[in-house]
Amino acid sequence: MTRVQAIEVAQPRARRSRQARVVWGSRVVTVGGDAPVRVQSMTNTDTVDAIGTAIQVKELALAGSEMVRITVNTPEAAQAVPYVREQLDRMGVDVPLIGDFHYNGHRLLTDFPACAQALSKYRINPGNVGKGNKRDKQFGQMIDAAMRWGKAVRIGVNWGSLDQELLGSLMDENSRREVPWEARQVMYEALISSAIESASLAESMGLDGNQILLSCKVSGVQDLISVYRELARRCDFALHLGLTEAGMGTKGTVASATALSILLQEGIGDTIRVSLTPQPGESRTQEVVIAAEILQALGVRSFVPSVTACPGCGRTTSGTFQELAKQIDDFLRAQMPVWRSRYPGVEKLKVAVMGCIVNGPGESKHADIGISLPGTGEAPAAPVFIDGEKRMTLRGERIAQEFQSIVESYIQNRFGVPQAAAAD
Ligand code: SF4
Repeated sequence: MTRVQAIEVAQPRARRSRQARVVWGSRVVTVGGDAPVRVQSMTNTDTVDAIGTAIQVKELALAGSEMVRITVNTPEAAQAVPYVREQLDRMGVDVPLIGDFHYNGHRLLTDFPACAQALSKYRINPGNVGKGNKRDKQFGQMIDAAMRWGKAVRIGVNWGSLDQELLGSLMDENSRREVPWEARQVMYEALISSAIESASLAESMGLDGNQILLSCKVSGVQDLISVYRELARRCDFALHLGLTEAGMGTKGTVASATALSILLQEGIGDTIRVSLTPQPGESRTQEVVIAAEILQALGVRSFVPSVTACPGCGRTTSGTFQELAKQIDDFLRAQMPVWRSRYPGVEKLKVAVMGCIVNGPGESKHADIGISLPGTGEAPAAPVFIDGEKRMTLRGERIAQEFQSIVESYIQNRFGVPQAAAAD
């Protein structure tokens, strides 16, 4: 007789990378090693508008972004960076800022020391740091700035701005192969070589390898998976992960989630960004929400209490449960900026809002707190389950308000820090 074996519980694999420290004041964000996978984002304001940029950075930080990248593309933008930092500090927002440099980063970091100092990390694109014999010199000026001010760097390669000299030489080498690689494979090699060789160069210039992160961004899901698997195999630098130019709305969300999830499950990725094009009028914070949801869905991290809701079907023709699910989800998210410190651990809470008796009681029992609303033709009663036990039944017009109060009291009782302990 065949012996039945316990089914393996799926979980993301661990990858041991070097650990970098991204610092602002007393705030230290560790990246890589055994640190949690970090959520990163980028502003789309003109950095010269220091107030507007600081406001958007604050919004992104409140939404859960643990580092925020800003564009530093002109002398005026470099001059504005310390003011952005100052505004944030005044608002009590200590999120580290990352400067995004292309073409002229060597000059900006040298000519504007206050900018170099106010940033916590520099993103360097080796594809556009300089051509010919200027390349290493200009790259070296940026590495010098990182060493002088004690900053981390990300060597961020992007296939849209790949080092053309390197690509050209790899193409030539490929044409001499007996069986040439596909053009796509040569491009993968160019991305990975550009990142790793630049990191080695930075180390040879004296930068601590622990302060270097790498990224090789492409916009195709399968391309990203191929490149990062190989990049992770060839080096132990911490890796920043993201599908570049993912696009808008559902397409961008699904493509990012698909690519990032596969790699994160393999233990690849120490920081992530979802490069979503905002829909007209959509908040920039959506990219942070989605990045956090990807990590939460994979069980890698928890950021906000999760609301399990059924999709609804012909058994419940009323929109009540949809409205209640949305109301509870909105309520929990809106409270998180305050609750994070007031109720430690609340982000792991599971709430269920279900549409009828078929899966309602069962799913509600699996949650910390759940409600099973009446489907069409069922008695107008909504049992509430707490810690797996049916505790009460709600009826009437005020079910939504009453359930929200029950959730709030549950959170206070379970996650509230006792006053004596809080005073310690
Ligand atoms: S719980 Fe009920 S209403 Fe919701 S999807 Fe299942 S059967 Fe349909």
